[in-house]
Amino acid sequence: MEKREQLYEGKAKKVFLTDDPDLLIVSYKDDATAFDGQKKGTIVGKGAINNRMTNHIFKLLEKKGVPTHLVEELNDRETLVKKVEIVPLEVIIRNFSAGSFAKKLGMEEGIKLACPTLEFSYKNDDLHDPFINSYYALALNLATQEEIDAITKYAFTVNDVMREYFAGLGIELIDFKIEFGRYHGQIILADEVSPDTCRLWDKETHEKLDKDRFRRDLGNVEDAYQEVFRRLGIQ
Ligand code: ADP
Ligand code: UDP
Repeated sequence: MEKREQLYEGKAKKVFLTDDPDLLIVSYKDDATAFDGQKKGTIVGKGAINNRMTNHIFKLLEKKGVPTHLVEELNDRETLVKKVEIVPLEVIIRNFSAGSFAKKLGMEEGIKLACPTLEFSYKNDDLHDPFINSYYALALNLATQEEIDAITKYAFTVNDVMREYFAGLGIELIDFKIEFGRYHGQIILADEVSPDTCRLWDKETHEKLDKDRFRRDLGNVEDAYQEVFRRLGIQ
């Protein structure tokens, strides 16, 4: 597969066209940003960890019936993926209170919710990804009802699969964000699943093993990413 011109450079990844119009190459960077890009930094080794972790989890999800964009891992940082039209919704699932949810509802972090929740943000950097519901998504033509139903069903399956999987690694899945895309009329899981996009706490010590260490200047950021990767037991 031949790599062609760069289509897009985002905050965490670069996206390249290939000689197949249906396929892209994503290249994961070590760059880290938080708070709408106001805080910038580097997490050494992050690109390779996020690439390999995403592919590992996407393979597991495929086995459990969730279609994904994964085609083939090319090297440490780069993966061949199906080129989708991204549905402009950030889909957030929460099992425990944390982050913006805890703040908004005046809760401490780490309180187990009675059941998992799902929320949407409108993926729009200029508007700072505002919280919306499915009626807004329909009214703004962001997705059809059928697409929202598929996204909702897949998102809860992703949660069930990842929660159980991480539990086996001694990790509590607090919350996460995923993105979906349209590929030849079908909704498939795209983008990434990594410590950049999930809150992962050690089950015993409740130590944060995710991007909150960078966001909140907690130190040992690289060690946390390495620790998650080590527990995945890839190779
Ligand atoms: P951001 O755009 O938020 O800075 P990234 O740096 O992760 O994020 O950039 C990757 C971009 O590629 C994101 O906008 C994401 O929605 C998009 N993307 C992820 N997977 C695919 C795919 N399979 N096809 C097309 N676009 C994708
Ligand atoms: N998240 C993400 N990208 C975003 C916003 C959130 O990956 O642009 C993830 C975040 O890492 C966490 C979950 O979504 O795992 C919920 O984030 P929250 O709404 O609490 O926002 P935050 O506190 O990160 O602002």
